[in-house]
Amino acid sequence: MKTIYLASGNAHKLHELQVALDQAGLAVKVAGPDKIGGMPEVEETGSTFEANALLKAHGLREVGPNEGWFLADDSGIEIDALGGRPGVISARYAGLKCDDEANNDKVLEEMKDFPDSDRACRFQCVLALVGNRFEVTFAGACEGKLLSERQGHGGFGYDPLFLPDESDSTFAEISLDKKARISHRAKALTKLIDWIASQ
Ligand code: IMP
Repeated sequence: MKTIYLASGNAHKLHELQVALDQAGLAVKVAGPDKIGGMPEVEETGSTFEANALLKAHGLREVGPNEGWFLADDSGIEIDALGGRPGVISARYAGLKCDDEANNDKVLEEMKDFPDSDRACRFQCVLALVGNRFEVTFAGACEGKLLSERQGHGGFGYDPLFLPDESDSTFAEISLDKKARISHRAKALTKLIDWIASQ
């Protein structure tokens, strides 16, 4: 059976991928970096989500078995009025030691003078899968609007500020089920599963 090593210690991401593969009837096992000695230190120096996802996937491949497949993701939010920022630095927008609250505060401050018509943004996700002789990437986007105040208490990251076009509720208010259908990550994951199924 093929094993995909995921460049993330996040148990939720691991489970989500395993469920998607199982539901597609694919005989692929998902394992975390702990199964191959842990995730090596990888500096995310790329200027695109794709470049950073590839850096992480190749970083993990270096410590894994030759025949394995290695998967990494990179994601973030792009706000048009801010020229696409925070983009690839979404996780550390308010500084290296910041948290979600500080990141949201910074974005709210920078966006405070923009009218409703100028608040378009999107979450982006790129999944990179690399193997012995190949690398492929899959992108997904979720379009929406950046609110001028937090709404909802669920989710993580910029969820309380993000109103997806496909819903009247923010990512911090919608059910996990709905987010799993419309999110940037879900869209990229669907493309990945289709690709694996076609092999
Ligand atoms: P990474 O892909 O783990 O590097 O995450 C990048 C950052 O983008 C996260 O720390 C969040 O701040 C933000 N982000 C990515 N996806 C989401 C999402 O679905 N909701 C809220 N924030 C997100």
